[in-house]
Amino acid sequence: MYGTEETVVYRERGEHWMENQKRNVIILGSGPAGLTAAVYTARANLEPLLIHGPLPGGQLTTTTEVENFPGFPEGIMGPDLMVNMEAQAKRFGTTIITDTIKEISATGTPFILQGDQGTYSADALILATGATPRLLHVPGEQELMGFGVSTCATCDGAFFRDQVIMVIGGGDSACEEANFLTRFGSKVYLVHRRDELRASKIMADRVLKNDKIEVLWNRELKEVHGSKKDGVQSVTLFKNDSNQDENIPVSAVFIAIGHTPNSELVQNFVECDENGYVKTAPNSTKTNIEGLFACGDLQDHDWRQAITAAGTGCMSALEAERWLESLHD
Ligand code: NAP
Repeated sequence: MYGTEETVVYRERGEHWMENQKRNVIILGSGPAGLTAAVYTARANLEPLLIHGPLPGGQLTTTTEVENFPGFPEGIMGPDLMVNMEAQAKRFGTTIITDTIKEISATGTPFILQGDQGTYSADALILATGATPRLLHVPGEQELMGFGVSTCATCDGAFFRDQVIMVIGGGDSACEEANFLTRFGSKVYLVHRRDELRASKIMADRVLKNDKIEVLWNRELKEVHGSKKDGVQSVTLFKNDSNQDENIPVSAVFIAIGHTPNSELVQNFVECDENGYVKTAPNSTKTNIEGLFACGDLQDHDWRQAITAAGTGCMSALEAERWLESLHD
């Protein structure tokens, strides 16, 4: 049993109360990895503190139906799955708070986390901060984000009922979004830079068989045209097989070209690979810092599934438990 030396110091700061409570374990991130780590550490009586940032529930809250998470034969909506996971974590005593962590001390245990709302410390730290949608950085993309450009079909698809929609990318995300958006759009273009989809066969087949989807092969998004007042009006595509540009009228552009791991908080002291994914030991979630574990999309660039994220979240919890036990030996 841990936590006997815990102290809770509340300091009044204007209208705010700052919590400065040493924990056994802090989990950063509330996707399937973080919440699974929370369920396991909470059931081990470690009284975890889970801190999440601006997107509680992680990427699954921006997806539609999840058909491949075991236990749901009819599928489950991504946001519902995350609400269930959070309820399960809370049931066993996880404290869940919202704060944006700005800094993590690099000196090992206890780990000190400095957030906008307070300072937190713990003997074990589980990083489950996931990954963020990648952007193309072409003219008009950032300027019209939220005005016809989006990275979330679930969030924004319904705004474009009976309009022409474009999705950029050739992976599972792009195919899933294109299929989903046919519920709303009069037509959906899928723009891919090659002549073959990267997506799994089942997802690719759904796109290729969908009459409302037209795939534009060997095209790259060059510019998005429109204004905040009128929204997206059209795009310029570069045809890389003929070196020509073409202009296509559309009302919305959904960017679905993959993700970047959210590792910037730890990149200066935790070993990461060349793409920013946190490196973990083989068959483990241990990082190069003792007591610091990484799970989910933050360290996994191969599988990136909700179920594998949950699996590595479980591993982190069990490894953190062993680490805490070793401190008390
Ligand atoms: P992804 O598999 O990395 O695919 C990214 C796609 O975007 C690729 O087709 C890539 O083109 C394209 N792309 C990347 N950078 C680009 C650029 N600068 N310009 C134009 N196109 C660019 O990413 P994802 O689709 O987000 O999927 C990530 C993981 O999640 C995968 O493992 C996937 O299986 C999984 N996933 C599963 C489901 C599901 O099963 N329901 C749903 C979504 C995602 P190239 O092909 O030419 O590289």
